[in-house]
Amino acid sequence: MRGVHDILPAEAAKWERVEGTARRVFEAYGYEEIRLPVFERTELFARGIGEVTDIVQKEMYTFLDRAGEAVTLRPEATASLLRAYIEHGLHVHPKPVRLYTMGPMFRYERPQAGRYRQFHQLNVEALGDDHPALDAQVIGMLVEFFRALELAGRLQLQLNSLGDAKCRPVYRERLLEYLRAHAAALCAECRDRMERNPLRVLDCKTPACRPVLDAAPSVQEALCDDCRRHFADVREYLDAMAIPYVLNDRLVRGLDYYVRTTFELTTAELGAQNAVAGGGRYDGLIELLGGPPDPGIGFAIGIERVVLLLPPPAEGREGRKPFAFLIPLGAPALRALLPVATAARASAVTVELGYGDRKLRSELERANRLGAAWAVIVGETELARGEAVLRDMASGAQHTVALPELARELARRFEVERSRS
Ligand SMILES: [Zn+2]
Ligand SMILES: [Zn+2]
Repeated sequence: MRGVHDILPAEAAKWERVEGTARRVFEAYGYEEIRLPVFERTELFARGIGEVTDIVQKEMYTFLDRAGEAVTLRPEATASLLRAYIEHGLHVHPKPVRLYTMGPMFRYERPQAGRYRQFHQLNVEALGDDHPALDAQVIGMLVEFFRALELAGRLQLQLNSLGDAKCRPVYRERLLEYLRAHAAALCAECRDRMERNPLRVLDCKTPACRPVLDAAPSVQEALCDDCRRHFADVREYLDAMAIPYVLNDRLVRGLDYYVRTTFELTTAELGAQNAVAGGGRYDGLIELLGGPPDPGIGFAIGIERVVLLLPPPAEGREGRKPFAFLIPLGAPALRALLPVATAARASAVTVELGYGDRKLRSELERANRLGAAWAVIVGETELARGEAVLRDMASGAQHTVALPELARELARRFEVERSRS
């Protein structure tokens, strides 16, 4: 299938690092995990994302299930998360309710480097609170996540305010008027888009459109007093946390529902797919979806793009080498070593076990190829004595251990080795 990809074991280590860092950072800020289904009723996304967005009009994986119900593979997580917030009455908890989730999203887009049809996101939402200090801390947490991955220095934080239900429509009209007057100088896509979603036009990457769009009226000049004050406070708190940002009054985001604080983290290293994370405030969306009039703010991080920025793991596949290779010689020895292998693995020692049907020499070669630190040999003689031979694969030195002690001995040596490295 085009636009999907496998994450092979060598690559999965990076994914584990990204997800582990997210859990650690988000939980320190009081966020709790919520796990959501990957498909929902189509109408949820149509309402929650906006009928006139590219996502809903062109990019959703929508189908009728066997009962004839229209369902859609989620193209983003916020609508599902807010549906769960409303459905389970999470709004009765102390505000803000802080949630995060991670998993696959689906959009039918033209695949390119860093852009897939099944892609993965980390999503964070803080619900029921519109204080500008919350906005600043949500952005601060996003920056902290990238700091913990040692990527913050390669990213730029872009910041804007889109106004609210009071002042944004005024700006929309002013912008639309300007775009209509300059329509002849715009590309076909801009002209097609401007009546439905004029703010999105500001996003156009076509070089020919830039002079007209760069001279378009700024949303900053259209903000009402409340929005102006809210945004000034957000910036003041970001300054207080020493978080650098660039004001970008052309930053609009793809979804309809954003109001006020809007932000993106961008990089110059991934070509056209320059946004690694983005988000903003969406006061009014929870109510639109049938919930209480709670405000909300959140962001999404594109995991594939973060992984592209990460260096390969230092130890590569080294971590998966067996610590010991257990070599039974014959079926009775295999029966004796099976419970030893189980006990050693229960102590988190990685061991491999032969089947007892090969010559010692070829099994030792295999232990060597796998990179085992120790070989454990049990033949007929050892079995009769209730012993095993431990062979240091590096030096060839050997000594015996009583079989009942073997699992514990391996665990002890494993600990010694680990504390040394
Ligand atoms: Zn254009
Ligand atoms: Zn306003």
